[in-house]
Amino acid sequence: MNDCIFCKIAKKEIPSTIVFEDDNMMVFKDLNPVAPVHYLMIPKVHIQSIDHMDEEHATLIGTMLTKLNSIAGEAGIADDGYRVVTNIGAQGGQTVDHLHFHIIGGRNMQWPPG
Ligand code: 5GP
Ligand code: ZN
Repeated sequence: MNDCIFCKIAKKEIPSTIVFEDDNMMVFKDLNPVAPVHYLMIPKVHIQSIDHMDEEHATLIGTMLTKLNSIAGEAGIADDGYRVVTNIGAQGGQTVDHLHFHIIGGRNMQWPPG
């Protein structure tokens, strides 16, 4: 997607603070963190949201999620607990239409979210 900011971050056309990267995914710091740790995990390929996930994406998304515990561990939030969120569409609060998992930790979380 030519005009997608997260595609541009994945291609390093827009700078970001990268926490983890491999051939298929990237984790970088959110520009406007809502907690002491706030990362975004994205696939490098453009998928609009988790609602647009197909069978062909199953291995990719599964592999991404298996990285969560090591990323949270290195961030120092795994022991106390943390939150993984993916927003979907306008009412779901999605503002960037490229699938991303928020990894949020370092403070107590509220429930339910607003
Ligand atoms: P959403 O609202 O779609 O679930 O989350 C989008 C997130 O992307 C927001 O938390 C916002 O702060 C973050 N964000 C938007 N633009 C940029 C950017 O250019 N760089 C980084 N690092 N984060 C961004
Ligand atoms: Zn994209």
